[in-house]
Amino acid sequence: MSEQEAHQTNEGKLTRRKLLQGGGAGLCLLFLSNLLGCSPPTETEETDKQERPDLDDPRESILQQKKGFTNPTAARWFSEVDQDMIVCQLCPKQCELEDGERAPCRVRENREGVGYTLAYGNPALIQEDPIERKPFFHVLPGSRALSISTAGCNLDCKFCEVWDMALEYPENVYAHDVPPEKVIQHAEESNVQSVSYAFGEPVIFYEYMWDIAKLAKDAGFLNVAHTAGYIRPEPVRELAPLLDAANVDLKSFDDEFYRQVVGGELSPILDSLKILRDEGVHIEITNILIPDLNDNMDMIEQMCQWIADELGADIPLHFARFYPLYKLSELPRTPVSTMEEARDIALKAGLKFPYIARVSEHEGENTFCPGCGEKIIDRVGFVIDEMHIDNGRCAFCDAEIPGKWS
Ligand code: SF4
Repeated sequence: MSEQEAHQTNEGKLTRRKLLQGGGAGLCLLFLSNLLGCSPPTETEETDKQERPDLDDPRESILQQKKGFTNPTAARWFSEVDQDMIVCQLCPKQCELEDGERAPCRVRENREGVGYTLAYGNPALIQEDPIERKPFFHVLPGSRALSISTAGCNLDCKFCEVWDMALEYPENVYAHDVPPEKVIQHAEESNVQSVSYAFGEPVIFYEYMWDIAKLAKDAGFLNVAHTAGYIRPEPVRELAPLLDAANVDLKSFDDEFYRQVVGGELSPILDSLKILRDEGVHIEITNILIPDLNDNMDMIEQMCQWIADELGADIPLHFARFYPLYKLSELPRTPVSTMEEARDIALKAGLKFPYIARVSEHEGENTFCPGCGEKIIDRVGFVIDEMHIDNGRCAFCDAEIPGKWS
């Protein structure tokens, strides 16, 4: 449909904005159907898959799913404690594992004194979608990303949105057999500009992400990650040169909330953010607001002030709406007024790009130039309606806008 045709629908039928919203809904269904791929396929689906034997074609092979497929791979970040015990230094939990023991993250284990990962080359999710879904609002707006994720997680959020993948053992989920080279082949044959390590927790498939990211960089793709940031300083420092952008979940500014609801601690996440900033990675932050659990406005003010002081006022901050699910299904969704109050606090703290996410058609999902106040990106869900940024600068006043624009 042309732009003119879209505008002609204003008379009671279909507006351009509604048209764009429709596109977003379709993409949402695509995401859900991919996640549901973690459930056993029907007999008909199995038959369909058997009729696609061309495994040399990467786009065909990723359609294949095998229940419990793993590719155990010797992993990094383990060191020996004694003859039987090794310790994992990948995340702050620093698990000590005896021979044969599997870690709480469900994917790393001690096999006769050698640390292995069972999250390598076996994504439970691989799909193309808009980069706005990661969410990145300041990275190639309107482009598409190839997202990868595996089973396992080093946290245990009571509000996990992908618990049937992230909080599962790899033996229990359907996974694709996709080594790093095939991920890149698939990206090259697709209309994507970036490879995204998202939906589940990329820290947990560190070695797989690292190998893909190296190939992706050489092939000219951006590497972008959405992570909880619960990782030790050395691994994040080593990964940073391969990353172009990271959206880090700052789930609260309260350590007790992290311990009780997330299963981790706050300070390692703050450290990760500072390391990523120091290493020159473009950062965006997502803060989910859960009624009565982490929506205290004094705490949100402290968090915004910390971001402004320690990371910089240019960091985009996404306030994400909570929807009842998993172990917090009894809670209500976040009132829009709470999100608006949080955004106002962020603006008062000096943050230049606070957003309201997951609230349909809210003005807070658009980007406004901090120089002249003009709307420079008009979004409808995950779709860009209009953009007025030229070479990283506001088209109205020439102010520099932080991000990756080309
Ligand atoms: S990544 Fe897994 S094995 Fe390693 S320290 Fe964290 S929870 Fe333990």
